[in-house]
Amino acid sequence: MRMIVSVPKETFPGEQRVALVPELVPKLTKASLDVVVQSGAGESAGFFDAEYERKGAHLEEDAFGKADVLLKVQPPTVDEIGRMHEDALLISFLQPYTNATAIRALAARKITAFSMELMPRITRAQPMDALSAMSTIAGYKAVLIAASRLPKFFPLLMTAAGTITPARVFVIGAGVAGLQAIGTAKRLGAVVEAYDTRPAVKEQVESLGANFAELDLASKDAEDRRGYAKAQSEEFYQKQQEMMFKYVAAADVVIPTALVPGQRAPILITEEMVRGMRPGSVILDLAAEQGGNCALTEPGRDIVKHGVLIIGPMNLPSTVPFQGSEMYARTITSYLVHLLKDGKPHFDLDDELTRGPLVTHQGEIVHEVVKARL
Ligand code: NAD
Repeated sequence: MRMIVSVPKETFPGEQRVALVPELVPKLTKASLDVVVQSGAGESAGFFDAEYERKGAHLEEDAFGKADVLLKVQPPTVDEIGRMHEDALLISFLQPYTNATAIRALAARKITAFSMELMPRITRAQPMDALSAMSTIAGYKAVLIAASRLPKFFPLLMTAAGTITPARVFVIGAGVAGLQAIGTAKRLGAVVEAYDTRPAVKEQVESLGANFAELDLASKDAEDRRGYAKAQSEEFYQKQQEMMFKYVAAADVVIPTALVPGQRAPILITEEMVRGMRPGSVILDLAAEQGGNCALTEPGRDIVKHGVLIIGPMNLPSTVPFQGSEMYARTITSYLVHLLKDGKPHFDLDDELTRGPLVTHQGEIVHEVVKARL
């Protein structure tokens, strides 16, 4: 019997992406799977039922009941988990460190669940790196939103009505999202400065034509072996705030993106620093979903404090749903194919790529860090 891989319509408020696009259906049917797509699942991303059918998928009204494998973008709700059959396999973003209710429900239902956030950062896993793919979208969109809300131009313009000086953009954290923000702001003609605690980033920032802010800060152990930033001491963050004051004050737009995996985002912009900015300036806090890098950020809201617009966007990747779905679908289907042998799941738990994202299996929470956090 061929296994059924199923793709439901996302129900999380505002979510417009879908976990599989028509173009990738044949990749799964060739791997000996039957593909079921819930009717209308791709519509909000621009992928219609007829295209899925043409590529070999079956359309159904309910995607949960018969699925051997479920592909999702957002974590399933407890109700959705209750509609999955026991021993099914789930691959999705799961927000594993904070989403205790769903993780426990998945274990209780004996679902084998893989969390796309926990993909190891090894070369083999690059085609499956959904977080990086989505960060690319977030970095790009952040700049477009900030540019459209700033009461100024981004580029230098010489006009008959006078010369317009370019906007100054300061990007804090030059990982995948930050580098994309730098590149996008440069293409719009802004003068861009950036800072990151990982010294290796300086060269990448400069190669995009931005200036690296030289702060006199010795970050110890800035990077872990996976390439992520390590948390620093409170004293360090305080010193960083002081040293960044002049960069923040000089900027028209500040885009902080600094994250430390599994932890609340560090506060890098204090209220005093916001007070030091020119009225009309914009902070677009890309760390809002992890609590924000600015002390005043309210996740999911736009607020004005001391004349500065502070935007705390949630789920930016969903605002570019067409390519957001394409990119996500490439990562998730690559991962599913990795987990299969002759069309059936084959879990080699000695393989870092299989074990790393595995959260629940055979009725247990098997990921040690997730278990400890919950
Ligand atoms: P992230 O989203 O976890 O963090 C964003 C950035 O914030 C990082 O660059 C981090 O160094 C920075 N940051 C943390 N604390 C800071 C502070 N106090 N001040 C300033 N900056 C701070 O990271 P990310 O973008 O997902 O990835 C970071 C790097 O990992 C990337 O640049 C990339 O080179 C590497 N990476 C490797 C792989 C792989 O090998 N498969 C995959 C993805 C990314």
